[in-house]
Amino acid sequence: MHMASLAEPGSLVARVGGDEFIIWIPGAREKQPIETFAKELVDTLSREYEVRELAFHSSASIGIAIYPEHGSNAEEILKNADAALYEAKRSGKRCWRFFEQSLQDTAYEQMQLLNGLRNAIANDELVVHYQPQIAISKMRIVAFEALLRWKSAKHGNISPAIFIPLAEKSHLINEIGAWVLQESCRFCRRLINAGYASIRVAVNVSPRQLAVADFIEVVQAAINSASIDPSHLEVEITESVFIETMDDSVEKLMLLKNLGVHVTLDDFGTGYSSLTYLRNLPVDTLKIDKSFIDRIAEDATQSSLIASIIEMSHVLGLTVVAEGVETNEQLQQLRECRCDMFQGYIASRPLPEPEAVKLLQTG
Ligand code: C2E
Ligand code: MG
Ligand code: MG
Repeated sequence: MHMASLAEPGSLVARVGGDEFIIWIPGAREKQPIETFAKELVDTLSREYEVRELAFHSSASIGIAIYPEHGSNAEEILKNADAALYEAKRSGKRCWRFFEQSLQDTAYEQMQLLNGLRNAIANDELVVHYQPQIAISKMRIVAFEALLRWKSAKHGNISPAIFIPLAEKSHLINEIGAWVLQESCRFCRRLINAGYASIRVAVNVSPRQLAVADFIEVVQAAINSASIDPSHLEVEITESVFIETMDDSVEKLMLLKNLGVHVTLDDFGTGYSSLTYLRNLPVDTLKIDKSFIDRIAEDATQSSLIASIIEMSHVLGLTVVAEGVETNEQLQQLRECRCDMFQGYIASRPLPEPEAVKLLQTG
């Protein structure tokens, strides 16, 4: 199917890179016909295709800006169509959105943040904090999760829940991700030098990072330059990794696992969450999301659900970590459910390195 054959005669269809296209319809000012065209385009592009007997699904999102209502020159029109496109993508696949002023405000804010983030490494504004993971049977710290912090001179302290998704929209996530990996491996080396040779460090890895061709080399380089054993490193991934690029992700995680790196599935319980499909995935540890843990102490159904998740995970040979444990009651429940490890404010918040080391010393 050619996009050009769908567009009105006189339109211009251009590929601007990757999977992004621009369609210019000269003289189009009325919303109604544009909307009809957008719908037709999305429907056509969201079909199933057959290529060499394999079924492929694709989908499309569209952002629309109309001249002169939404911009007075080509540059502004393109920028605003792009802001509308982000909004369309945010609303889910197979959507189209017209530009609105409120989008410009958020788009502008995000652009400002993204520019700040671009210089954050060079300006020493990024720092990694570490939150202990504790083995429930021995009540001893066995690992730390590396959690990135951005202390922006211009924007103040920004939560990773905000700046990580922003970095993920650009290639910046790869640079930042590589830096976190290096920094975490160096932290691990310093722990070994201080006499703590068996503590693992877990690093969150975005789907976008894993998708990059040289991801394994990036991990290997971080391990080598800190001269630690691969078994000291753990990568945390989320299920979306498997949903988006199943084969490639599985292959890469398998390579990591063969190197000796530990692989953890983060945020279990928030997404697709099927234990049966875990069976065929190269995962060592399951991390149960905080939203699942929250009600464990009050809600009997919830705690038996978690108990059976843990039991099944053990059958599959997986270790289970509970995330976001805040109360003694929750911890007690988890112990009864035979959960292996926990992490949460009840033990400690994520800490700057010196305090994390102090915590190891005091136990
Ligand atoms: P996550 O990997 O699921 O990390 C757990 C989040 O829960 C962290 O938030 C942690 O501070 C918080 N938390 C831990 N225990 C408790 C608790 O008892 N109560 C409550 N209310 N919260 C608790 P944080 O540090 O804000 O990070 C948010 C998310 O940002 C992370 O979720 C992770 O997805 C992402 N992230 C953080 N650092 C990185 C990074 O270096 N790379 C990537 N790709 N993502 C990162
Ligand atoms: Mg995590
Ligand atoms: Mg999590």
